[in-house]
Parts: sequence; structure tokens; C-alpha cells
Amino acid sequence: MERPLIVGNWKMNATVRDAKELTGIIKSGLVGIEGVATVLCPPFTALWAVREMLRDTGIGLGAQDMHHERRGEYTGEVSPEMLAELCQYVILGHSERRRNFGETDDSVGLKVTAALEAGLRPILCVGETVEERDSGEADEVIVRQVRAGLAGVDSVEGLAVAYEPIWAIGTGKAATPDDAQSMMALIRVLLIDRFGPVAAGTPLLYGGSVTDENVVDFLRLPDVDGALVGGASLKPDIFVELVRGASLAAG
Ligand code: PEP
Repeated sequence: MERPLIVGNWKMNATVRDAKELTGIIKSGLVGIEGVATVLCPPFTALWAVREMLRDTGIGLGAQDMHHERRGEYTGEVSPEMLAELCQYVILGHSERRRNFGETDDSVGLKVTAALEAGLRPILCVGETVEERDSGEADEVIVRQVRAGLAGVDSVEGLAVAYEPIWAIGTGKAATPDDAQSMMALIRVLLIDRFGPVAAGTPLLYGGSVTDENVVDFLRLPDVDGALVGGASLKPDIFVELVRGASLAAG
């Protein structure tokens, strides 16, 4: 997988018209920026339109969630194979889904396994709350979430893990590079323990108030291979600058 990997999560923020406008600006802004894998994750309803616009660009496409079953009586849900027709990536276990939609470590684990089986590249999100950090439980939470998220996984090929401390998401208060590095080194050790040396190549993304101004500070860290970007990915000019920063950091 090319590095760094920069993933924009638009959340529930773009109609098809908005998505086309955002994609158009980002697509032209990224022309000539080399050495970065960029992925856009619009809402389900805009996947098709964005996919058409990204043809022949090298920019990847991802969804923000999926069900773990292949088909069945799950009104309103979208299956791994439905997504695999449209995109390459899927964000799984985002803290907003864990918090607002009752997703558990185990249900996220089922999704990660199902995504890999369908040929998708899952981005498993993990992260602790501010209370968990303040009470010294952050490491324990991350160990639990990573182990459960990967419980059914046989091979890390195609997988990425995003460390997103919940207190840093959408707050403008990113983790310090030292804190991010220490948590991401922990995730790296967990992956290598479980899958062997090959996991040294698994992309680990930092997420939480990443902007064009701080992206380079994170990408310089030894265990950070990219970023999962929320708010800044909806500001297309800033997102393009963020990707440019990532390219310079990589070069
Ligand atoms: C996110 O929601 O995954 C995220 C990292 O958001 P933001 O960049 O806005 O903090």
C-alpha cells in the first residue's frame, strides 16, 4: 500500500450535489501531488457519483460503515459485497458509530473480518475517551479494541488501523505527537505479536483534529503512516494542502 495514506471521512455531510462539488475541487487540486494515497469516504448515497468522478485519477474511494452479513433481512443496511462493487475501502468501528449506534468491540470485529473476505480494505478505528485517558486506562482500552477488532482476521493484508482518541475528534485539540506515537507504537506491537513481522507494513493512521498545519508533525512519527481526517476533509482547499503537506513529508 502506498504511503502516506490520507483518508477523508465526510461523515453525514454531503448530498450528491455537495459530494460532486467537493470531489471536483479536490480532484483538480491533487493533480501533480505525488507519493500519497488519498481516499475519499462520502456517505453511501454519493458513492456512485464520486466513483464516476474518480475514474482514472488514482484517488481511492471508501464507505463509512457496513453490515457484516452478506445478505438478508437487515432493512436499511449495506453489505460488504454491495460496497465491493463500488469502492475499495471501508471505515469500521468509528467512535461515532460505537457511541451512537451501539457498535461493540465484537460487532466491529465481525465487520472487519467480513470486509476482508469481500476484498475490501477495512480501516479499523480505535480510541479512548478522555475519562479513560485521565484514569490511566488508555492502553488497556486500545489493546481490547484492537484484539477484538482483529479476532477473526487471519492475515493483515489490506488492513489499516486508525488510532483516533475520542477527545481529539472534532475538538481542534489534536493529540501531542508524543502521545500519538506512544499509542501507535503499542498498536504496532499488538499487530506484530499477532501477525508477525509483516505487520510492520500495516498502515497506521492518526485521526483527531488533523489539519494542513499539523499533518507533517504526525507523519514524521515512526509509527504513523497516514491520517484519518474528518472536518478538514470537508474544506477542499485545506484538504488539498493537507495532502500536499503529506507528500512533502514523505518526499
Ligand atoms: C474523524 O471523525 O474521524 C475525525 C478524525 O474527525 P476530525 O478530523 O474532525 O477530528
